[in-house]
Amino acid sequence: MKYLIVGGVAGGASTAARLRRLDEASEIIMIERGKYISYANCGLPYYIGGIITERDKLFVQTPDSFGTRFKVDVRNLSEVISISRDDKEVIIKDLRTGNTYPEKYDKLVLSPGAEPVKPPLPGINQEGIFTLRNVTDTDLIKSYIDSKKPRHAVVVGAGFIGLEMAENLHKAGIRVTIVEMAEQVMMPLDYSMAALVHQHLKTKNVEFYLKTAVASFSKADDRIVVKLNSSKTIATDMVVLSIGVKPDSHLAREAGLKVGETGGIMVNEYLQTSDDDIYAVGDAIEFPNPVTGTRMITYLAGPANKQGRIAADNIVMGNRRKYIGSVNTAIAKVFDITVASTGVSGKMLGKLNIPHTDSITHSSSHAGYYPGAVPMSVKISFSPDDGRLLGAQIVGFDGVDKRIDLLSATIQKGGTVYDLTEIEHAYAPPYSSAKDPVNIAGMVAENILEGITRNISWRAISADCGKEFFLLDVRTRDEFQLGTIEGAINIPLDELRQHLGEIPHNKKIVAFCGVGLRAHVACRILKQNGFKEVYNLSGGLKTFETASQKQSNEDIFAGDYIGKDDHIYQGSPEKPLPRTIVTEKLKEVNACGLQCPGPVLKLKQSIDQIDVGEAIRIKASDAGFYKDVKAWANITGNELVELTQEGAEITAIVRKSEPVIKTASHVGGNNATLICFSDDLDKALATFVIANGAVASGKKVTIFFTFWGLNVIKRQNKPVVKKDIFGKMFGMMMPSSSKKLGLSKMNMAGMGSKMMRMVMRDKHVDTLENMRQSALDAGVEFVACQMSMDVMGVKAEEFIDGVQIGGVATYLERTESANLNLFV
Ligand code: FAD
Repeated sequence: MKYLIVGGVAGGASTAARLRRLDEASEIIMIERGKYISYANCGLPYYIGGIITERDKLFVQTPDSFGTRFKVDVRNLSEVISISRDDKEVIIKDLRTGNTYPEKYDKLVLSPGAEPVKPPLPGINQEGIFTLRNVTDTDLIKSYIDSKKPRHAVVVGAGFIGLEMAENLHKAGIRVTIVEMAEQVMMPLDYSMAALVHQHLKTKNVEFYLKTAVASFSKADDRIVVKLNSSKTIATDMVVLSIGVKPDSHLAREAGLKVGETGGIMVNEYLQTSDDDIYAVGDAIEFPNPVTGTRMITYLAGPANKQGRIAADNIVMGNRRKYIGSVNTAIAKVFDITVASTGVSGKMLGKLNIPHTDSITHSSSHAGYYPGAVPMSVKISFSPDDGRLLGAQIVGFDGVDKRIDLLSATIQKGGTVYDLTEIEHAYAPPYSSAKDPVNIAGMVAENILEGITRNISWRAISADCGKEFFLLDVRTRDEFQLGTIEGAINIPLDELRQHLGEIPHNKKIVAFCGVGLRAHVACRILKQNGFKEVYNLSGGLKTFETASQKQSNEDIFAGDYIGKDDHIYQGSPEKPLPRTIVTEKLKEVNACGLQCPGPVLKLKQSIDQIDVGEAIRIKASDAGFYKDVKAWANITGNELVELTQEGAEITAIVRKSEPVIKTASHVGGNNATLICFSDDLDKALATFVIANGAVASGKKVTIFFTFWGLNVIKRQNKPVVKKDIFGKMFGMMMPSSSKKLGLSKMNMAGMGSKMMRMVMRDKHVDTLENMRQSALDAGVEFVACQMSMDVMGVKAEEFIDGVQIGGVATYLERTESANLNLFV
C-alpha cells in the first residue's frame, strides 16, 4: 500500500504516525509546503511574546526525526499542486527547485489546514502588516519586533488568536490597540460573557474599538496609518491581521471533490471525501455539528489530531471508526483570565431558531475560605423541553479548564443539566467546593426547568425602561448604596418578609442581588406569599453591570508621552503624584475569596479601626471590588491612593480621611421624605409632583400621610368596613376618596376642583390618581400614620394598594437617610 498525505502539521502528522503504527509494511509519503512539520501552531503567539523563550521548543518533530521514527518519507518545501483522481496521482512542486513531478497513491489524505483571511483593503500588503499561521510568519513578526522595536501595534480582529496576540505583544512591551468589527470580542461567547473579557482588557490598558472596521492602510512619517470606518486614524508601528481563517480547500475543489457551503471539504462519518480513496481531516473539512446538525468547520488542534487517528484507522482497517463531530471546545488565556466555550452559544442557538434557555451563575474556583479562591462565571444554554445541555461558556481565573471539559463531555454525550447536578467531582477546599461550579450551574438550570425559579436576562431589564418590571434589590443597604439598577427598590433579603406589603401585585417582580443566590431565596419567599410573576435576574447585578456598561476602550493612549528616558508613560505628565504612603504603617487586609459585599464590608471595618491619615492595603479577588472600592471611597470621602490588579487579585490602598462634615443639605443622605398633612387637591398634587421628581432624580422617597392627608390615598370603591360612631361621623365629613378632594383656595363648593381637573386634562397634565400610581410604581413608599388612622377612624382597607401602615418612628427612621424633608 502507498499512502500519501498532504500537509505535515496537526492532522497530517497525526495521520502519518498512526498509519505507521498500524501498518509497518506500507509506503508513507508526507508532503508539506512549509519548511517545518509537526510544530506547535498553538504556541506561536507565546514565542512572539517571549513566554516560550526557545524557538526549538516549538518543534515537536523535525522532518528528519519524524522520518526516522516513523519511517515516513517527509518532503518539506514541497507543494501538491494538483490531484488526478482517475490516475490516483498528485503533482508535486519542489519549492527549492521549482521542478514538478507526479507521485502515485493508493490512499490520499488531505490535511491542508486553513489560511488567514486577508481582505483586499487598500495598503494591506505593505511592510509591517502581518498574519500569523505558521513558523515562517512567526519568524517574520519576531524579527520585525527585534529590529524595529515597535512601540505600538494594531491587532485587527479579536478572536482567540487576535487576543492571544494582543496579550503577547503587550508582554513584549508594545502598546496594543484592537479593532473589532463585531460588538464584542471572541464570537463563540455570548455578549454578557464577552463583556467580562472587555472589562478585563480595560484593566490591562489595552485600547480597543468595537463595532469598528478597518477601511484602509497607508504610510506616513515611517508609520502605518490605519484608517477606521469611523474616519478615525491610528498611527502605528505594526499591524497583525487576525480577522479569521478559511479552509484551504482549493486543491480538493479543483480535483472535483465535493466542497460544502462553508467552503470546507465534505466528508462522511469515516472522514472519507466524495472519493472513496481520499480522506480529509483538520481545519479544511466540514462536518455536521452534533448539537445543531448544521454543517460547519472546526478550527481546532484537538479535533484535527483526533481525526488523523480515525482516518488512519479507517484507511488501514476499513471504515470502522466513526467521527462523532466536534462541539468546538476551546479555551484561551487572555492576560490574567481564562476564557472557554463549548457547544453552541445562546446567540447562535437563537439565530438557528433552536429553543433554549440560558442561565448564568457566578461561583468561586474553590472553597471561599481557602486562600486563593477566585471568581468564575459560568453560562449554560439548555433545551427547555428535556434539559439537554447545548452550550456552555466560562470566564474565570483558575480551574476554568477542568469545568469546561466536564461541560464539553456532557454535551458530547448528549447529556442534560440533570447530569451536571449529578457529576461527582473530586473535592477538597484547595480545588473546589462541595458543590462544584458545574453542579451549581446544573442545579440552577434544574430549578428553572422545574418551575421553582424563573430567570430573566439582563437584556430584558435594560430594554424595559422600568415600565413592566418592579426591580427589587435584596442586597444589604450598604451594597445598595454602592450602586444598583436604576429604579430599583432596596429591601434587604432578611427584611423581605416584613415588607411584603410594599411590593406591588400588579407588576412583574424582578429580584436581584450580587450574583443571583440571595435573589433566588427572595423569589421563593415572594412566590410562596402569593406573588405570581417573580423573576430572578440571571447572573445578578454582576452580569447586569458588566454587560450594560460601556464596552469599548477607545483613545486611552491619547495622553501618553515619551519620557526623557525614552520610555512610554501613560497619562499626563502633569498629573500630580499621590501623597506618599509610609509602607511600614500600612495595615494589610486580606479579603480574597470573599464575594461581594464581603470585601467592601471588610474594608469599612478595617478603616474604622485606623486613625485619620493612616492607610490600609486590601487585597480582594472579587472582580466587582475594582469598581466598588472606587464608589465606596467616593461615598465615604476616604482617599483611594492606588488600585491595581494582578491576576485575579485586586489591590487597593485606601487612606482614611477626616470624617466628611455634613452640611445641612447633606445631613442623612440623598433620600426625600414628605409629610402629606392636607387633603387639598392642589397640595396633594404638589406632593406627588415633588415625589415623582425626586424619585426620578435617584432619591428614595417616602410620603407619610397623616390626618387629612389620609384622604389622598383612599380608594374609590372601598369595601364596607366596621367603624365606631366617631369613625362614622368623620367618614361622613371627609372626602370619601381622592376624587372628592377640594382646592385649598377658590374651591367654590367643589366647582374649583372640577375646573382644575378639567384644565389639567386639556393641558395633558396627569390626574392626581395617575400621579399617585406613578409614584407608587416608581417605588415611592406610602406610609399611612397609624395614630391619625385611629383618631379619625380610617381603616387600612380603605386605602389604595401599596400603602403601608407606620408610626412616627418609621417616618423618623426614613428622615435619617434624607436630605429633603417637606411638610405639605
Ligand atoms: P495545519 O496544522 O495548519 O496544517 C496544514 C499544513 O498543510 C500547513 O502546514 C500547510 O503548509 C500544509 N499545506 C497546505 N496545502 C498544502 C499543499 N497543497 N501541499 C503541501 N502542503 C500543504 N487550536 C487549538 O485547538 N488551540 C489553540 O490554542 C490554537 N492556537 C492556535 C494559534 C495559532 C497562531 C494558529 C495559527 C492556530 C491555532 N490553533 C489552535 C488552530 C490549530 O493550530 C489548527 O486547528 C490545527 O493546526 C489544524 O490542523 P490541520 O492539520 O488541519 O492544519
